[in-house]
Amino acid sequence: MLSLRGVVVRFGQVQALAGVDLELGADELLVVLGPTGAGKTTLLRTIAGLETPDAGQLELAGEDITHWSPADRDVALVFQNFALYPDWTVRQNLEFPLKAPGRRLAGGQIAERVQWAAGLLHIEGLLDRPAARLSGGEMQRVAIGRCLVRRPRLFLLDEPLTNLDAKLRESLRVELALLRRQLGIPMILVTHDQAEALSMGDRVVVLGQGQVLQSDSPEEVYRRPVSPLVARQLGQPRINLLAVRRQGSHWVAGQGVRVLEAGQEAERMQLGVRPEDLVPEGGLDPAWVRVVEDTGPAQILLADWGGCPVHLLVAKGSHFAPGDQIFPRVKPGQAMLWPCGDE
Ligand code: ADP
Ligand code: MG
Repeated sequence: MLSLRGVVVRFGQVQALAGVDLELGADELLVVLGPTGAGKTTLLRTIAGLETPDAGQLELAGEDITHWSPADRDVALVFQNFALYPDWTVRQNLEFPLKAPGRRLAGGQIAERVQWAAGLLHIEGLLDRPAARLSGGEMQRVAIGRCLVRRPRLFLLDEPLTNLDAKLRESLRVELALLRRQLGIPMILVTHDQAEALSMGDRVVVLGQGQVLQSDSPEEVYRRPVSPLVARQLGQPRINLLAVRRQGSHWVAGQGVRVLEAGQEAERMQLGVRPEDLVPEGGLDPAWVRVVEDTGPAQILLADWGGCPVHLLVAKGSHFAPGDQIFPRVKPGQAMLWPCGDE
């Protein structure tokens, strides 16, 4: 459906996109994850035609669109800081994009489209209310609706849930994924929220400094991140990253605690282990619990293991307290190893 090859976008000295390759299937929800400044917004603006690449090529449904105008691309972009016309009603806000010169939709068709979008987004009851009198979540729905009515070929959403409160974010997350399936329009959603990426994406593209670091299913990116940099972006609490060195038959960390049996890798490696894969019993060397955090369904322990701070996720009901001695053990097969120097 959409493909980008070697796309470069520069702003003066800054390379916002430094050679991006990306493919999107016709029925796919792609989530682009990356920290602030990674180039996410630039990526969407380039696909929408609001930025012109300095190098590279974009194809949409088999056509080279690299130099097409935004209007000709028929791609909808919901901005991060969306804006409705506050004095207009929801209906007027939704009708607006359909009344643009060149659209030539009959009045009846416009009403039909507005009704259709309102139904999908559950905002039928709000159609005659001024936009200024909507809640944040309602406004966001209308902003999405304003793109939907155009029935674009491709839907781009720039952190659409970021400005909403946690509860609303969760329900809209589910709704958006359902909506996309109903519509069958391919969608690219940008976020810096790892939970959103893991729960919503058919595929996750991790972006860093204008480059695609990894593109895989959410499970794959979580279980087999290609680098510590990618690993750090997914998971809450964050993955434990330890510099380890070979000592006898073990990898040891910090002041010499044995973390894991060593294989045939190099003398020094970087080891990653998710907090849920580090259990508090059965290990060879002790650690001391420093902080216990109750999250409801689980407890998070912050422990000192030979001078290295590590997080462990333990089931609720296990009664750990600061000062306790534990013997951390990595669950079999759950350690990730990268060569030293890999970022
Ligand atoms: P993200 O959306 O992931 O936070 P952006 O795409 O907004 O990242 O920005 C990527 C980089 O490009 C940043 O370093 C940013 O400062 C720079 N940048 C983005 N837009 C412009 C612009 N219009 N002019 C100059 N620099 C820009
Ligand atoms: Mg952005």
